[in-house]
Amino acid sequence: MRFQGKRVIITGAGKGIGRDLALRLAGEGAEIAAMARTAADLDSLRAEIGGTSHVVDLGDAEAARKAAREAVPADLLVNCAGMNIPQPFLETTVEAFDTVNAVNTRSALIVSQEYAKARIAAGGGGAIVNVSSMSAFYGWADHAAYCASKGGMDAMSRVMANELGRHGIRVNCINPTVTMTELAVESWSAPEKSGPMLARIPIGRFAETEDVSGLIAFLLSDDAAMINGVAIPIDGGLMAC
Ligand code: NDP
Repeated sequence: MRFQGKRVIITGAGKGIGRDLALRLAGEGAEIAAMARTAADLDSLRAEIGGTSHVVDLGDAEAARKAAREAVPADLLVNCAGMNIPQPFLETTVEAFDTVNAVNTRSALIVSQEYAKARIAAGGGGAIVNVSSMSAFYGWADHAAYCASKGGMDAMSRVMANELGRHGIRVNCINPTVTMTELAVESWSAPEKSGPMLARIPIGRFAETEDVSGLIAFLLSDDAAMINGVAIPIDGGLMAC
């Protein structure tokens, strides 16, 4: 029960990695403040684990700030909401680039500002985990906007680790490879698509949501008290070879 009595804001808690994390942390005693766009997802989550829910389009800066102000104060924060609009580089539209970066990176800036201001007002201390991606390190074709958003998230997180670390708030990124959420299972089920990618991963499989939520929980916990400003791949060794 590492998170007994702790309130944790999780953006993107309606589905996939964020939802798995919410269930895990609630199982260890946390109260979850869940953010997503789809009310039905948050209703079903709250029916399962309680906590508070905040229906918001995090791509809208004003709405993101309002939701963050409603969700604080909190002990811990995980910026997990994310999306992708795949387009070849030469056809990447300004609209798609802005939308992906607004949701994936700018919302993490806004929610983290509100979380950290409240923490500092309460005397400091805390932890933020930003859910980035292997895409911060690789130039995947058709992923210019997404890779830029995750590379930007990693760089911003180092600044946050520097500035917020001085208030006792640790900030780290996690960078998963393909992770088997419902959506990913659908889009990676064809062996001709998954085969070449799996061949590059020494462990021989994609990540499961538990692989990702387990590392996030560790980074949020006091066991990681001296870890600040890192970006940790969850890739089964992909980057090692
Ligand atoms: P899912 O699509 O399964 O879930 C995404 C969650 O984010 C949903 O709850 C969704 O809510 C929310 N969300 C998306 N856009 C918005 C928005 N504009 N405003 C509010 N909430 C929003 O994604 P995953 O679990 O796969 O991904 C979670 C994070 O992990 C993302 O940041 C992603 O980039 C990252 N990641 C995922 C990998 C994978 O292979 N799955 C690999 C590496 C990184 P709603 O449905 O209501 O819009």
